[in-house]
Amino acid sequence: MSRILLKNVTKQFDTRGGGKVTAVDNFNLEIKEGECFSFLGPSGCGKTTTLRMIAGFEDLTEGEIWLGDRPVSVKEKNLYVPPEDRGLGMVFQAFAVWPHLNVFENVAFPLRVKKTPSGELREKVMTALDHTDLTGAEKAFPSDLSGGEQQRIALARAIVTSPSVMLLDEPLSNLDPKLRESMRFEIKALQKKFNFTIIFVTHDQSEAMALSDRMLVMDMGKIIQAGAPREMYEQPANQFVYGFLGQSNFLKVRASEGKIFPAGSEVSLDSPVAGAPEGGEGLTASRPNEIILGRTAGEGGVRGRVEKRLYMTYCVEYHVEVAGQTVRVHGPHRDALPEGSECFLGFRNARWYDAESAEAELERTERQVI
Ligand code: ADP
Ligand code: MG
Repeated sequence: MSRILLKNVTKQFDTRGGGKVTAVDNFNLEIKEGECFSFLGPSGCGKTTTLRMIAGFEDLTEGEIWLGDRPVSVKEKNLYVPPEDRGLGMVFQAFAVWPHLNVFENVAFPLRVKKTPSGELREKVMTALDHTDLTGAEKAFPSDLSGGEQQRIALARAIVTSPSVMLLDEPLSNLDPKLRESMRFEIKALQKKFNFTIIFVTHDQSEAMALSDRMLVMDMGKIIQAGAPREMYEQPANQFVYGFLGQSNFLKVRASEGKIFPAGSEVSLDSPVAGAPEGGEGLTASRPNEIILGRTAGEGGVRGRVEKRLYMTYCVEYHVEVAGQTVRVHGPHRDALPEGSECFLGFRNARWYDAESAEAELERTERQVI
């Protein structure tokens, strides 16, 4: 087990156009021993670069990284411990297994690099294969195995050296949804057995929430918010985090005399909006499953009209027009309202956010292009 400490870590890359991109921007973070910690954020936000710096595959532009009580990268002192001496296990998104080596040799590889004696090597490989349900597959080649089994080889290879830290970079992204779910549990089970600290990188919020003790949401190289999954879901720091952690509506509104009015409407919302100022314009954020869909004015709520109705597996999704804006609402299958119906929306647990600048969205898109 080991804690991981990042102090003022920054990484800049030269871009093809001759400029610079700050892939990781003054990152400060302490991950506790034995914690499962997720990095969540859109493509290009700097997740992989951060992990590669922790692993030692990437130099720092500024800052320090510590594993346990040991500094492993300190820019100021030009201190740099190579990846093989950091005591880490790693699994990456692409099935990084060697096609020309059989399962045994794929898993044995890190031990061969360390010149482990053959008896000990065999014992360690067989134990790692046992923990990843690959016993019996030693002689098979990766191409004989399914995607899930190939990713298990990568897991076995990561645990074979008994690392104190496990870095997982979107390890489940190439798997089908059912397999992804079962692999999540396998990873958690392995962590229980071996007690390693995990950093799990993903762009899938449900995966992060299911696996993590704590997590952070990154955007454009910066940590926007860090905390326990539930705390983050219930108290998102801004519009970006709110939108990233679940389905969302952002209704343009104005605050006036203690009430919130959808833009263009003289009728206010019937419930309070957390964080709303006394006056001014902004957004009301709401989740489709937290809006109450009424059929009569007597039930209260803002008047709207069902534009579209979609049958989903767990609910009926309505697209409701409110004062020229569309709001997504989830309701039960029973007695579903037909398209064109008048309805009344009650906003529950709604939150106020200042609108994000259009430039932010543009910059995010540009960063995705490597
Ligand atoms: P993520 O893993 O969150 O998708 P990355 O860490 O891969 O993001 O990338 C962060 C930013 O750094 C992106 O803008 C990407 O284009 C840039 N980047 C990453 N690696 C390199 C590199 N080797 N050279 C130049 N730019 C890079
Ligand atoms: Mg990545």
